[in-house]
Amino acid sequence: MTACYQCGQPARGFRWAPTQQRRFTAGTLRQFCSLDCLSLHTEHITEDVMLDYNQKRSISEQITEKIDQTLEKVEQQKTPRSYLGASRLGEECQRRLQFEFWHQPVDQGQHFRGQLLRIFQFGHQFEALAINWLRAAGFELYTETREGGQFGFSAADGKLKGHVDGIFNGAPAGIEMDCPALWECKSMNNKSWKDTAKRGVVLAKPIYAAQVVLYQAYMEPIVPGISQNPALFTAVNKDTCELYFEWLPFDAGLAQQCSDKAVAILQACESGELLPRISTDAGHYHCKMCPWKQQCWEART
Ligand code: SF4
Repeated sequence: MTACYQCGQPARGFRWAPTQQRRFTAGTLRQFCSLDCLSLHTEHITEDVMLDYNQKRSISEQITEKIDQTLEKVEQQKTPRSYLGASRLGEECQRRLQFEFWHQPVDQGQHFRGQLLRIFQFGHQFEALAINWLRAAGFELYTETREGGQFGFSAADGKLKGHVDGIFNGAPAGIEMDCPALWECKSMNNKSWKDTAKRGVVLAKPIYAAQVVLYQAYMEPIVPGISQNPALFTAVNKDTCELYFEWLPFDAGLAQQCSDKAVAILQACESGELLPRISTDAGHYHCKMCPWKQQCWEART
């Protein structure tokens, strides 16, 4: 009689073919005396395989995981902002902006991953570099108030806010620039940067155009004249370090449109009304990338 593979007692024909476990070849059969012995053996194998799995992970995977876990933890501990960010008003889906304003938890597994958080931080470093480059070239660029904070505005009882990257108050000889002028800086991958350089900010990145125009409008009472002068948009190519600059004259019509949109969203948020989806098709490219897709499309309206 065959002995139980786990305890050595006579086996009663309980067989297990661990075809999924790496340490056994497919089709390996074991005999056990009882289901208890079978499950004891399975637990043991599972732990063993987990240890084996950890050992096989490269040092790169292990360290990256540690970094990303820390970044994600820090991100989760941040206090969510209690206002609608002017930088987001160019977002086409109003419902998504509502979810952001409400701090609606994203769908399971849709939180910012470590790699994306690293990309965001990488972008901030490019902005810091661009500040140094512009100042070294002779631009008088201010990025902080006397108190040390960012320049910014607050409207609608603090429910709409924006923080600007910088304000120019002078340019080097040979560069015609009317000051004060708003500065907005973005870092982009090669594809995005090329598209922006080719088609311009308004067509290639309408979300940034909306952000700039809102900043120009709402900063006017704080920095008189800023809406009368074109803003200088700067895009740094993260792959090649190429630079793209574009003047963005103030577009009063777009500013009004964005401001009206902000008011409509805030009113709907306060009354609890869910604004329409961007599309009637859940496969719309916006929805595909939306972290609230599941709950949005599960809602009745
Ligand atoms: S899933 Fe689509 S419609 Fe719903 S909030 Fe996201 S982008 Fe808007």
